[in-house]
Amino acid sequence: MTTRTTDQYIICPGCDLLVEEVQPTATHTPVCPRCQRRLHRKRPDSVRRTLVLSLTGLLLYLPANFASLISFNILGSTTSSSLFQSTLSMFDQGEYLVGILVVLTGLVCPFMTLSLLFGVSAGLYLGWKKKWMAVFLHWYQHLAEWAMTDIYLIAVFITIIKMNHTAAIEYNIGFFCFIMLVATTVAAQACIDKSLFWKKLDKNTINDRPKIPVLTLAQTGKEAGLLLCQSCHKINRLPSGTQQEKIHCPRCGEILHLRKENSIDRSWALIVTALILILPANLLPIMSVSSLGRVSKTTIIDGIILFFQGGAYGIGLIILTASILVPLFKVIGMALILISIHNQWTTWLRHKALMFRFIQFIGRWSMLDIFVIALLCALVRFGSLSSVDVAPAALYFSLVVLCTMFAALSFDPRLLWDSAESSQNP
Ligand SMILES: [Zn+2]
Ligand SMILES: [Zn+2]
Repeated sequence: MTTRTTDQYIICPGCDLLVEEVQPTATHTPVCPRCQRRLHRKRPDSVRRTLVLSLTGLLLYLPANFASLISFNILGSTTSSSLFQSTLSMFDQGEYLVGILVVLTGLVCPFMTLSLLFGVSAGLYLGWKKKWMAVFLHWYQHLAEWAMTDIYLIAVFITIIKMNHTAAIEYNIGFFCFIMLVATTVAAQACIDKSLFWKKLDKNTINDRPKIPVLTLAQTGKEAGLLLCQSCHKINRLPSGTQQEKIHCPRCGEILHLRKENSIDRSWALIVTALILILPANLLPIMSVSSLGRVSKTTIIDGIILFFQGGAYGIGLIILTASILVPLFKVIGMALILISIHNQWTTWLRHKALMFRFIQFIGRWSMLDIFVIALLCALVRFGSLSSVDVAPAALYFSLVVLCTMFAALSFDPRLLWDSAESSQNP
């Protein structure tokens, strides 16, 4: 009987369809014929580029985060802040939960992702195949989404534009290092070919990879008795019998599930929580500005209206999109997908799969407003002349962002296709 190895196949992580492995080229990126998800993209010279960029990022990390970013000058008095100080500004004001979130996404996760990328690419460059490298790559994949320096940089620009008319702004060394840090981080993340990295780290050499009979395509991994690791995308054989204990991926250590456990219930719970929290997040003030003894509290919507009234339509539109439209889109979109699964709707499946990938992609951008407030709180400290403080809605808004991001993480998009299939073959 003719046999093949499992890595001659790909199982689509978005819909579980079994596809023959096709190597990507510069002009052709293989996509899943069922859900249109990109399966493998060509990243030339991936190991060396990732190594150089992550090392550059690490060298820039200290000056970018700890050197002074910008200074504001109002009527002769000057304040300045580094990125590190601005991440701590929420703690100064007693908003510990928001503070932890800002420190994790703005400071800790960016450092972790760069270090993990550097470690694994340096190891591969030296030709190593160590266990810790698989652990590093596994953690990198989980943390990359939570490293939000790119969003923080946009927040810095918005803060500058917001204060442009009120204060004289001076750009310091930290500002330029931070721009370069974000550029190298984004480039390093774009250069890593995860599929290639995982193949290089696989303990099984080409000759001792598990053999399976030739499979008919156009069936799912589940139907073919195969189980895809959602982290490193290794194809494993489905264990026989009904074993209750958890099985771990032999390559990356991730717990393997045929489908994520209680995915729909968890996603529903998080979406409903987010929907409830959207109300206080938008109705309560998010920021309080005191100027010459007068205190004015503004909600998210007030802030957007102020931008539009001041003629800064572009910024107004960005904040409107990130703070109001994105969270609403995420909640409504996820609810629609979950209702669709519940009712086994078979129409618009590809569009719903695309919408889910879009929800995953935009999820983190809602943190923009929180970063702007953190920067304003750190920089606008002019005593009785002018100061900015955080207000209660920041906490509710951060929780909305967390709930929607975790809802997307908990959801298993393969269920969308399972439910459509079971309605067609009852
Ligand atoms: Zn697919
Ligand atoms: Zn794995």
